[in-house]
Amino acid sequence: MQDTSFAIVGGGPSGSFAAAELARSGFSVTLFEPKGAWEKPCGGGVTTKALERYAFLLDHPSWPSQTIDRIALVAPGGRRLEMALERPFRVYDRTRLNGLLLERAREAGATVVAESVSRFERADAGWRVTTRSGEYAAGVLVGADGAGSVVRRDLAGRFRPGDVALTVGYNAPPSLGRPLTTVDIEFPPRLTGYVWAFPRTDHVNFGVINRLNERPAAELKTLLHDFMERYYGGPIPESAEFYGAKVPMLGHGSWREARATGDGWALIGDAAGFVDPITGEGIYFAIRSAELLASSFVEGSGLAGYERAWFEDFGEDLEVASKYLDRFYRGRFLGAPVIDRAVGLSARHAGFRRVMARALGGEQSYLTLKRDLVINALRF
Ligand SMILES: Cc1cc2nc3c(=O)[nH]c(=O)nc-3n(C[C@H](O)[C@H](O)[C@H](O)COP(=O)(O)OP(=O)(O)OC[C@H]3O[C@@H](n4cnc5c(N)ncnc54)[C@H](O)[C@@H]3O)c2cc1C
Repeated sequence: MQDTSFAIVGGGPSGSFAAAELARSGFSVTLFEPKGAWEKPCGGGVTTKALERYAFLLDHPSWPSQTIDRIALVAPGGRRLEMALERPFRVYDRTRLNGLLLERAREAGATVVAESVSRFERADAGWRVTTRSGEYAAGVLVGADGAGSVVRRDLAGRFRPGDVALTVGYNAPPSLGRPLTTVDIEFPPRLTGYVWAFPRTDHVNFGVINRLNERPAAELKTLLHDFMERYYGGPIPESAEFYGAKVPMLGHGSWREARATGDGWALIGDAAGFVDPITGEGIYFAIRSAELLASSFVEGSGLAGYERAWFEDFGEDLEVASKYLDRFYRGRFLGAPVIDRAVGLSARHAGFRRVMARALGGEQSYLTLKRDLVINALRF
């Protein structure tokens, strides 16, 4: 009989959630996370879709988050649209989000080891996992170690450079002139990506995301600095803390080939590449993939069940998103960039605005985007 004890490498949203679900169902789980609850470079935006499915993320007294009920968009041509969100979303400090999820894993009975996994190898029917101070045996190895995953690198191969986006950003004090309940997003001309300001309870996360190697990092920094100076209406505060990080942005061909399992192992979250290539949203997919992995073992379909489940649940939708990626950011429609048209139509037309708000809240399926645009266009 297969050994269904788990060694989970990485205690971010995917690893901690998988650990909690599996441990709660009676599986033996060891979760390795050297940094504990840390401020991972991230916007921390948790979409309406995520909040609906994972209600524990709302209003947890020890782990507060910022409610966002307005969004301001600036199109490449300069047109601005500010809209109220019917269904607010949240922005989390990553220290708090990771803390909440790690706490759930511990409470569910997972053993949390505050060390990095330095090696893993096959042993008997399972795995031997090594850290600086010990060796652990497990039947199933789960790579939840993020965009730079070593589990992925060794078992499934690195991401191709074309399947990755670069981000640079800052965590900085709030601006007195800006409400903490409004998110700002700007789409610079000819950039596969965008610039953002995501307010949190006591600071603002700024960043820019761009397909890797499309623009030099120095140019991205200049775009971001200009945006931040406009946001503050003056110089950037000296206490702003810089970060840089990569995030998966899988191209169309890569979704068809994507595999999240192999003999005795699985990948979840960023390690598997589960990020919306258009928006960069990954927290929902990290948690959802973890949930699907755990439920496949609880129901008895195991790794094969998980491989089927992730593609059916969200993989096909993200594959379609990757098909739209270039058209969305770089395409033109009726003589103007697609985003200018989308912002212009949303400003004038309640139906388009509704679809846009749903897309920003992570609720709009890419599979049904065209149909929903037509249906909503008929409904003023
Ligand atoms: C700048 C930026 C902004 C983003 N903004 C958003 C956003 O607003 N909303 C959103 O939904 N998504 C956003 N994302 C994506 C989001 O951050 C990720 O999709 C999400 O964190 C993935 O969770 P994860 O658990 O799979 O990986 P991670 O959160 O990366 O966690 C991986 C964990 O593995 C640990 N680890 C690594 N190596 C080892 C090892 N050898 N041994 C043990 N542990 C190890 C790390 O310490 C880390 O804690 C953003 C990403 C970036 C870079």
